[in-house]
Amino acid sequence: MKNSPPVRNKTNAKKPNQPLFSPPKNPHLSEMLATNRFGTFFGVSQKVLDSVWQALTSTAGESVTYISMEIGADLDVFHPVRRKLQQLEITKHPDEVTNRFLQLFLEGPVKIPNYSGGLGILAGDTLKSFADCKIPVVGISLLYRKGYFSQLVDSKIGQVAWASQWDPENTPGIYLLHDPESQVEPLTIEVPFFDLQGRQSMAYARLWLKMEINERLDFFVPEILLDYLTPHSPPWIQDAAQHLYDSSSEKVKATQRRLLGAGVIPAMEALGLTSRTIHLNEQHGVAVVLSMIIRLLQEQHGHQYEDKTTDQDILKAAAEVAKRLVFTIHTPVEAGHDRFNISVYNDLLSPFCNRVLNLLAVDDKNRSVYNFTAMAMKLNRAANSVSRLHKEVTQKQFPQYADKITAITNGVHHLTWTSDARAELYDAFSELHNWRQDPSVFAEAESLCRNRKFRACFEEAWQKDTKALVDYVNQMLITHRNQQLATWIDPPNFLSYRNDQEAALKHTTFTLGFARRFSTYKRADLIFEDLDRLTAIVTQNNWPVNFLYAGKAHPSDEPGKHLIRNILAIQEELYLKSNGLAKLIFIPGYDMHLAKMMVSGCHAWLNSPKRPLEASGTSGMKAAMNGVPNISIMDGWWVEGYHDGQTGWKFGYEESVSPEHFSEQPSALLYSEDSASFYDVFPEMLRLFYEPTLHDQYIDKCLANLTLNCPIFNTHRMAAEYVARYHLDLPPEVQREMEKFRSLYCSDPSFS
Ligand SMILES: *Cc1c(COP(=O)(O)O)cnc(C)c1O
Repeated sequence: MKNSPPVRNKTNAKKPNQPLFSPPKNPHLSEMLATNRFGTFFGVSQKVLDSVWQALTSTAGESVTYISMEIGADLDVFHPVRRKLQQLEITKHPDEVTNRFLQLFLEGPVKIPNYSGGLGILAGDTLKSFADCKIPVVGISLLYRKGYFSQLVDSKIGQVAWASQWDPENTPGIYLLHDPESQVEPLTIEVPFFDLQGRQSMAYARLWLKMEINERLDFFVPEILLDYLTPHSPPWIQDAAQHLYDSSSEKVKATQRRLLGAGVIPAMEALGLTSRTIHLNEQHGVAVVLSMIIRLLQEQHGHQYEDKTTDQDILKAAAEVAKRLVFTIHTPVEAGHDRFNISVYNDLLSPFCNRVLNLLAVDDKNRSVYNFTAMAMKLNRAANSVSRLHKEVTQKQFPQYADKITAITNGVHHLTWTSDARAELYDAFSELHNWRQDPSVFAEAESLCRNRKFRACFEEAWQKDTKALVDYVNQMLITHRNQQLATWIDPPNFLSYRNDQEAALKHTTFTLGFARRFSTYKRADLIFEDLDRLTAIVTQNNWPVNFLYAGKAHPSDEPGKHLIRNILAIQEELYLKSNGLAKLIFIPGYDMHLAKMMVSGCHAWLNSPKRPLEASGTSGMKAAMNGVPNISIMDGWWVEGYHDGQTGWKFGYEESVSPEHFSEQPSALLYSEDSASFYDVFPEMLRLFYEPTLHDQYIDKCLANLTLNCPIFNTHRMAAEYVARYHLDLPPEVQREMEKFRSLYCSDPSFS
């Protein structure tokens, strides 16, 4: 017997998205409003909504369902609808401004904290490029009402985590879908779970739709976000659905994965989505195969399939299902691979599902766990790693699948990551005409890079971005000091206490940026290994340097949090030893907006991972979109983006890799070797920056980064490689566009 469902969240009682608009008088606005059976949407015309929906629901099934545990697509870095409204100067029509949609889009919240790092940002960037290239794709993810977490940093405690606050009901571009039958009830799907006594208990999810609309507003990719915090879901499901990567127990982790994977097919059925291809962005959602296999077996054996099915039938169905799946694996790091104790699943899954997993997911090396990364690797028609080097590593980790593992190097969405000042610059030069639609134009801009006017404007735009970043940091130092009086948080940066002019950063000082998740293999503190050597470089030449650091550690990652404390602990010694020339600042609250300020405002971008554990890395590509050079270990994408030093600097171990290099053990992390190598290269970088006679060479590298790397490391090219490698059927005009992006680069030469 079921208990009556507890009511947990009153805000859920809100009526779903109803037409709030009487048809707008302004014709531009009526072109931005569209309705279908599931709701009313703002930003695209009726024609666009109908054609996208038609492609996603057609019997041909030529669309793709893209499953990701996290999606990062904050509106403060890319907000095409707001841009359009501003261009239309809609604020000059006061009666329209009162409209709820306009207010939301012009002034509404811009942060959707449902991502933790590179994987989620990549998902968002990928979906945006699919929208730009008009490829029919639907994203599916979870809606986490408490997000990942908000980060405060205290000088003594280090990172302090708070639940992120956001309100999907009042965020622009995201809509609670309604049930077409009733028109007032939210559209809700059922997902079967089991309770501790082995009885079935249903979980319920409401479906939200977030639109990734392209810049021309003539196509969009819907993201369907499953919201399990509904009053009818059992309390333990509601709890497990609140925080991204909640790791409070193995069962919660396993439950989250199931909430994603098991929700996919019910969500597709509820919306009539017909994609034949299912793309797993990392293995988290791989439970989708269970529902697919069961549906096949039901077709063959009817309702009593559980009794009639042989193991052979299951394996045959799995092979059928595998033809529909494609899989992108994102990391060689063990913590990123999903292995869970089989005993956990006795509580989560029906005996039949466990029977299927026993055939498909039991770990080769440890028979008491399911290995979902290995299952995803087994059940697909194509699998890709995210860089050339990562392909080698993945083939060594999964030798039995080596033949099918290929490389499609990651990219970034160039429109999202180009700063406003840089975008204005690119807009102003006819040689770069159409760069917004076509990042390949940078490949032909070599002569432009010798143009004195362009070079001067480039430096001017850069200075503007640096000023913005440095002003932000200086203001932050003061704010932290003032906040200390009102809160118990002790300012993380000791410079907050120095009230004098010397504490403030100057925008003319060389500024090196580092920001990403703080996890062991990324070695955030690598370059501070030998402070004497580092400060000698700075003092001997009188070269001031700002080191700007940001990033979150997962709240249960103790070594990661220790890295943050380490950065804080180094600051004062570095400052004193360098006679105040070197300032190391930690900026709390890393997110997409801060990332964009940093990659465009810094003078160089640092990446110091333990090779070969950085499968790709993408923040360095964001720097490249702004012509900011990289200084990096030869790992991930940088092996491909370095171009013999034309685009930046390299340091550290770069010989061949074998399985003994995959360890994250402290003794294997090569701190002294790789930091020593950094101290060898760093002076050259500073010399080119500071010596007036050499400064042109510095700018040469920056511009080579633009012309060589922008055409390659963007998500349009990456999407084009997906289309080819996964054999997607697309309209001829879309295929032709893709051909152009693909012609610029082939991540995996064995596929050219
Ligand atoms: C780009 C980005 C990342 C990923 O950075 P890597 O260098 O690839 O690790 C992480 N977090 C945020 C907020 C980002 O914008």
